[in-house]
Amino acid sequence: MNDVTRRGFIQTAAAGTVAGLLAPSSVRAAANGSAAISGPVVVASANGLGAVDKAAGMIGGGSDTLDAVIAGVNLVEEDPSDHSVGYGGLPNEDGVVELDSCVMHGPTCRAGSVAALRNIKTPSRVAQVVMQRTDHVMIVGEGALRFARAHGFEEVNLLTDDARKIWLRWKETHSNRDDWITPEDPNDGAGADARAELQYTYGTINCCALAPGGDLSGVTTTSGLSYKIPGRVGDSPIIGAGLYVDNEVGAAGSTGRGEAVIKICGAHTVVEEMRHGLSPKEACLAALRRIEKTTTEKRLRRKDGRPNFDVKFYAVAKDGRYGAAAIWSGAKYSVHADGKTRHEPCAFLYQRG
Ligand code: ASP
Repeated sequence: MNDVTRRGFIQTAAAGTVAGLLAPSSVRAAANGSAAISGPVVVASANGLGAVDKAAGMIGGGSDTLDAVIAGVNLVEEDPSDHSVGYGGLPNEDGVVELDSCVMHGPTCRAGSVAALRNIKTPSRVAQVVMQRTDHVMIVGEGALRFARAHGFEEVNLLTDDARKIWLRWKETHSNRDDWITPEDPNDGAGADARAELQYTYGTINCCALAPGGDLSGVTTTSGLSYKIPGRVGDSPIIGAGLYVDNEVGAAGSTGRGEAVIKICGAHTVVEEMRHGLSPKEACLAALRRIEKTTTEKRLRRKDGRPNFDVKFYAVAKDGRYGAAAIWSGAKYSVHADGKTRHEPCAFLYQRG
């Protein structure tokens, strides 16, 4: 075992112990060997506290799990202060917001997705209509916008003034070899100094839910990597990467560096690991280890060999257990279980620092 792998293993084991304390008390063993849950179990990325609360409330009131998680993430898609999702999301390198989303409905095994969709605040709803009203799973770009228009979705400029200013700052500082210059220091290399503070940013909401009857659904929605090349599509709208639901096993989703998740079919890998007996938390860690292994690019590794990016997986199993894990320590995720909504710590591969 090399040093990176060995240390990762020790830390993973330690993280496992901590997260092991988090087993939900709402799970009761049932006679058939599965488990009975007393209420909905909903998990989401850290920005989804309101979303899990909303989804759990709706499932408690009898709503379908997919309608519930979509209504949950709509709160974030419509929130201009979340710069990683929907309206107010950070734009591509041309200053245009392009959104990605997919949905998956466990009971019917159906899925829908849109990618690089412009001008529509709630791509998750468009993805649901793709699922319900077409024979396709995925529609992208101009076709997705035309499809949304045909279904009466309102078109808006998704670039808020705040997001535009953040993008403009990036535009003016990411290179000192072009004609864009900052107001502070128009004559020399301000760009070079400011560049360090301005990193590309990720951010997304994934939300997966389990109803007491055993049905599962999930949704992932995002504005994707900030300042991406126009047309770039991440993991979020890809069934099996940013989201996967199997009504017999569980549901999983991801946030973070989409390129890394796509390469290992991330969410599908998590669900398959659960199918083969791993707990949700261990399944998330197993998928992250696979990302570790498949990150061969030097530019994506720190000096100590560890990945210089983060990915998080979130999962809920058919029996009501749930978990999440990140490559790096310090992450939280949103949970509704036992009738309560809260943040819980993600397990992790590596301690930051
Ligand atoms: N996974 C998203 C993407 O790569 C971004 C994120 O979750 O931060 O587009």
